[in-house]
Amino acid sequence: MKTISVLGSTGSIGTQTLDVVRHHPDIRVAALTAGRNVRLLEEQIREFRPQTAVLSDETAAGDLKPRVRDLDVRILSGMDGLIEAASGPDVDMTVTAIVGMIGIRPTIAAIRAGKDIALANKETLVTAGHLIMPLAKEYGVKILPVDSEHSAIFQSLNGERYDRIEKILLTCSGGPFRGMSAQELEKVTVEDALRHPNWNMGPKITVDSATLVNKGLEVMEAGWLFGVDADRIEVVVQPQSVIHSAVQFVDGAVIAQLGTPDMRLPIQYALFWPDRRGMDTQRLDLFALKELTFLRPDTEVFRGLPLALRAMKAGGTMPTVFNAANEKAVAKFLAHEIRFTDICRIIESCMDAHTVQPEPSLDAILETEKEVYARIG
Ligand code: NDP
Repeated sequence: MKTISVLGSTGSIGTQTLDVVRHHPDIRVAALTAGRNVRLLEEQIREFRPQTAVLSDETAAGDLKPRVRDLDVRILSGMDGLIEAASGPDVDMTVTAIVGMIGIRPTIAAIRAGKDIALANKETLVTAGHLIMPLAKEYGVKILPVDSEHSAIFQSLNGERYDRIEKILLTCSGGPFRGMSAQELEKVTVEDALRHPNWNMGPKITVDSATLVNKGLEVMEAGWLFGVDADRIEVVVQPQSVIHSAVQFVDGAVIAQLGTPDMRLPIQYALFWPDRRGMDTQRLDLFALKELTFLRPDTEVFRGLPLALRAMKAGGTMPTVFNAANEKAVAKFLAHEIRFTDICRIIESCMDAHTVQPEPSLDAILETEKEVYARIG
């Protein structure tokens, strides 16, 4: 029996994690957390019976309490609640399916409490990878990737030595605007950006996929997870999203993981690793597929990717500036306050204005986030 805590249980990754749990009676849920979605969290509490449930928003937590009075569940709120849910004594593994830098502190608390991490919350690794990775090593904690590309790389590295990696081939669908010119991109709407061709995800990552900022965040995430620098990570556009990523080794061999796009597979792989359990997902039919296409990313039009590489190479606080500026700009875009192309303009102007602080502490990272937010307004 494995006991898990799911941070961000009401989101796209969170609900799919609980769907995997539904099929495996040897997983128990100790804690569930959300931002403010009272209705769905109540349903999840009734089905999965955790001991602890958290709504970050205090008013929402107050609304939830009377609705679950008949159950034996503690309702907590705020950052203290998130930290407690992530690191409770019964928990074996914490699934970080929360969105944004709010995941940093609960992830650190979970590692310090010795919990393995199934990591979806890439923003945490991008901004605080230099703190998270050594901490995980110190506490003997495993960081298991949930992101489909990183899971594919992890699966391709099964039984292999990481110092035998020549390069990582990180695949990318290209998003809904692949092939568009810079002028066409100026006119796209929120609704256009939320229509991803292959994956059904939360709104922030869907927009990040359209700007290619998500691919940039993934390059940084891969750098931390697999110890590979930016020059040895190649982004390959593969519009069918069938090859989830690959590793090229020092002898020229390329090992990849393929499958139909279904996030439950990498989630389940992280939950049960090193075991591989059965799953009723749609099988890959190569004859129906007929062909696979490969393209270079258009970094002239989609500035999110080169800006991310610049942030990765600068290191220190620069990935935090890149990420925080993106989080704020995407929220403004989703609120119809700015245009799609303004997202990367805002990121670039915040990066231009920033002086890098090397090896930042957690406080310095959170301070940098605040400064970036204040700058954008
Ligand atoms: P969603 O927006 O669908 O879900 C986010 C979750 O976080 C929800 O449970 C939400 O609660 C909660 N949340 C939001 N804001 C806060 C807050 N301030 N405090 C506490 N909880 C909060 O996101 P996704 O599931 O799409 O993505 C989650 C993470 O996984 C991201 O880092 C993303 O990059 C990564 N990821 C996602 C993939 C996908 O397929 N969706 C693929 C690979 C990685 P509420 O519902 O109450 O708002």
